[in-house]
Amino acid sequence: MDRCIFHVDVNSAFLSWSAVKKLKEDPGATDLRTIPSAVGGDVKTRHGIITAKSIPAGKMGVKTGEPVVKALAKCPDLVLVPSDFETYRAYSRAFIAILKKYAPVIEQVSIDEAYLDMTGTEDRFRDLILSGDPFPVCAARRIKDEIRDTLGFTVNVGISSNKLLAKMASDFEKPDRIHTLYPEEVPAKMWPLPIRDLHGCGSATAKRLYSLGILTIGDAAAFDEALLQSFLGESAGHYIHRSANGISTSPVRGTRDKAKSYSNERTLSEDITEENYGERMPEILRYLSDKVAGRMQRDHVRAGTIGVIVKTGTFRRHTRQEGLERALNRADLIEQTAARLMEDLALGEEGLFAQGETIRLVGVSGSGLDDSPYEQLSLFDLLAAPEEAPAEASAGEKTEEPREKAPLDPGEETGTLEAPASEKKRDEKKRRLDAMLDQVRGRYGDRALRKGPG
Ligand SMILES: [Mg+2]
Repeated sequence: MDRCIFHVDVNSAFLSWSAVKKLKEDPGATDLRTIPSAVGGDVKTRHGIITAKSIPAGKMGVKTGEPVVKALAKCPDLVLVPSDFETYRAYSRAFIAILKKYAPVIEQVSIDEAYLDMTGTEDRFRDLILSGDPFPVCAARRIKDEIRDTLGFTVNVGISSNKLLAKMASDFEKPDRIHTLYPEEVPAKMWPLPIRDLHGCGSATAKRLYSLGILTIGDAAAFDEALLQSFLGESAGHYIHRSANGISTSPVRGTRDKAKSYSNERTLSEDITEENYGERMPEILRYLSDKVAGRMQRDHVRAGTIGVIVKTGTFRRHTRQEGLERALNRADLIEQTAARLMEDLALGEEGLFAQGETIRLVGVSGSGLDDSPYEQLSLFDLLAAPEEAPAEASAGEKTEEPREKAPLDPGEETGTLEAPASEKKRDEKKRRLDAMLDQVRGRYGDRALRKGPG
C-alpha cells in the first residue's frame, strides 16, 4: 500500500511567531507579516544578521543570513524585531501538539517542521470525506486551518507517498497552502526546478553539478548514476540520483524510535572557520565517522539516520540529519553523508559561516537503529566491496564490514586525531569504481559522460 506522508512547515516561523505575539499583546498593532520586517541582529545598534524575514521584505531583496546593514541598504523602512526564543519554543510546542491530535506517527525535524505518517487515517476524517472533500487533502486542510485559527500563524502542507517529495511540495508557493507532489507529478512539478532546490543538495554540491551541465533536477534525474557517483562520491551520487527521480524510502521515525543513538563529538583546540574548513573538517569527520561506525559494528547495529552536530563559537548548538535509504554502519558511507550534511550546515548563503559563526565542536551521530541480521546488498556494494566481503555474504549471513583496526571504546576521547582510516581499502574501492566506469563508458560510449537522454 502506498504511504501517505505530510510535511508541515510553519511559514517564516520566527517572524510569524514574533508577529503573533505582538498582536496578542496589542491587537491594534501592525501585523509584521504584512510589512517589510525581519527578525535578528541588535535592533538598537542595527548590527548582526537577519534570521527571518516577512514575505514583503523578501520581495524587497532582503535575505536570511545577510548582515542587517546590507538589508537596510536595500530596504530602509525594514522594521527589525529581536529574537525571542522563549516565545518560539512555546509556539513550536503548541504547533506539534495539534499535529499529534491527527497523526499516529510524527517526526519533528526542527523547531518549525515535522513529517506526519498519515497512512490509514481516513477514518478520522470520515465527516469531511462524506461531505465530498477527498482524502488526504481534506486532512491537510483540517490540520492547516486548525493551526491558523487557534494559534494565529500559517503553515504549508506538502503531501506525497514519501518524505522527500512531501518536503519538496511544502516548499512550493507560500503561505497557507497545500500542495501534492506524487511520483507521477515529479516530471511536471519537480524536474523544471533548479538543482539547488533539491532537498539535501547543498550549495557546494550544486556548484559541482553546474560544472557538469546539470542545472535542473530533471538534468540530474537523467544523468548516469555511476558517473554522478564518480563525481560526488558513492553516497552523495546515489542520493542525488534517486532523489532527483523522486525516490525515497526512509520512514517517518517517531520519537520513540529515536531514543537510542550512537554519537561521538570532539571539542576543537582551535575553531574551524570558512578559511580552514577544507583543510580541517574532512579529517575530523573521518575520525568521528570511524568511531561511530566502530561502535555500531561492535554492537551489530546499523543506523537509518546519520546526523552531524556543531557547537559554534557563540555556544549555539546546531544539528542536521538525514534518513538513509538503507541502514548502514560503514565508516566511509557515514563519513560521506556527514560531509554533505556539514557542507549544508556550514557553507553557502544560509550557512553558519555566512552568519558570522565559527565552529568549536563537531559531532557525528547514527540513529534510527536497525539490528536485524540481514542486510540487502546492492549491485553497487558488490562491485565496491573489499575482497574480504565476498558476494555470497548477501545470501542471508550477517554481513559485518571487516575493519583494519579494533573498534574504539565508546565515548573515549583521545587527545589527538588518528591516521586516516584504511587508505588501502579506499584505493581498492576506487579501482573497482574506475573499472565499472570504464564498463559504463564502453557500454554507452562517450555520451554517457554527458547528460543522459530525456
Ligand atoms: Mg519554516
